[in-house]
Amino acid sequence: MAGDSRASANAAAVLRAVLEHGPVARSGIPPVCGLSPAAVSRQTTGLLRSGLLRELPGPGPGGGPGRPLVPLDLNTGAVSGPVTAALHIGVPASTFGLVDLRGQVLARRSLPHHGLDPATLPRTIARRLRAFLDEYDTGRPLLGLGAALGGWVRPDEGTVVRHEALGWRDRPLAAELSDALGLPVRLDNHARAVAGAEILFGHPDARHSLVHLFVGNVVDAAFGIGGTVHQGPGAAAGDVAHLPVPGSRTPCPCGRTGCLQATASDTALGAEAVRRGIVPEPSVGLLVDAAATGDPRADRLLRERARDVGRAAALLLDVFNPAVLVIAELSSLLHEGYLDEIREAALGAAPQPTPTTPTPTTPTPTTPPPPPPALRIVTPHAGPAVLPCAAATVLLGPLFRDPARLT
Ligand SMILES: [Zn+2]
Repeated sequence: MAGDSRASANAAAVLRAVLEHGPVARSGIPPVCGLSPAAVSRQTTGLLRSGLLRELPGPGPGGGPGRPLVPLDLNTGAVSGPVTAALHIGVPASTFGLVDLRGQVLARRSLPHHGLDPATLPRTIARRLRAFLDEYDTGRPLLGLGAALGGWVRPDEGTVVRHEALGWRDRPLAAELSDALGLPVRLDNHARAVAGAEILFGHPDARHSLVHLFVGNVVDAAFGIGGTVHQGPGAAAGDVAHLPVPGSRTPCPCGRTGCLQATASDTALGAEAVRRGIVPEPSVGLLVDAAATGDPRADRLLRERARDVGRAAALLLDVFNPAVLVIAELSSLLHEGYLDEIREAALGAAPQPTPTTPTPTTPTPTTPPPPPPALRIVTPHAGPAVLPCAAATVLLGPLFRDPARLT
């Protein structure tokens, strides 16, 4: 089948139909993927043989009396279902994951980078990731490693062209990790990886058009149209670090003021939280914990950041008018009240009054839901599993586009 582009496209259509509609009877596949029953039958045979699909026990939908149908689904079986190793390399920590064909995270672990030398970090990551994979090895086929990180990444070459915070330049990271792990490795920028995960596993509207804004220690963005994430020449798309945030006067290393990364990154937020005496070290996780346990100063600072993010999001909504604007930002991932704050700022609502009395433990929305387009602002479908799910999609996305690569 390799080399036959039509067969590849047909196999991809069947696989995605099952992703979307499974478990589904064979007879239910042709109407939703536009192929003939004979073509679907050919492809399901190949996909069953390669282990990407499985037959479920028992009759499926549409099975009439005396004519039971065996439903098909993606092979997420606990014995034979293929899994993907996932790696997100952040600035303070890396996240490891083991992810199935539906993007479900089966296991995860964090590796803090504290005290580790960025120059030798990939070797350390590979060693610890290998131990993690060995620990969770149940004999299920391991497809490879999908890896995601910030900065300028070229997926086709597997290189990190530039990652300022880690001091990496033209680093052949995919080859380094592949050599150390003995696995196929695919690499991409994490903003594009999250966008890819939303297209593959998230809201159906994301396949029409989406913009994703990633707000972590680095801030970047990605957009996708018609189910494809844009890379641009040199795969350099998505740098929004110096997008001007209306109303911000925060100085940026670039010499201007009010740039998005300098204003709203986790690094900036953590430093501000320490400066205000809210947390002992510059950790956004600690800041979110402080807000959740009732510290009004922490809640206030997180709401300030949410409004900065919302104002930047409004610019992206204006420029792209996407069906979905996905924002990956820690506080709004964990508490919907901060998502409401982002939406309200994007709507151009008046600044929220600063609370003068302690706020409740969990922020509660006090206004009715805003109308579109701010309602198109959502958090990633995978919630707190966003990073391992997105990293795995770096490998799974190409597989769903061309399952023949596995056969
Ligand atoms: Zn700047």
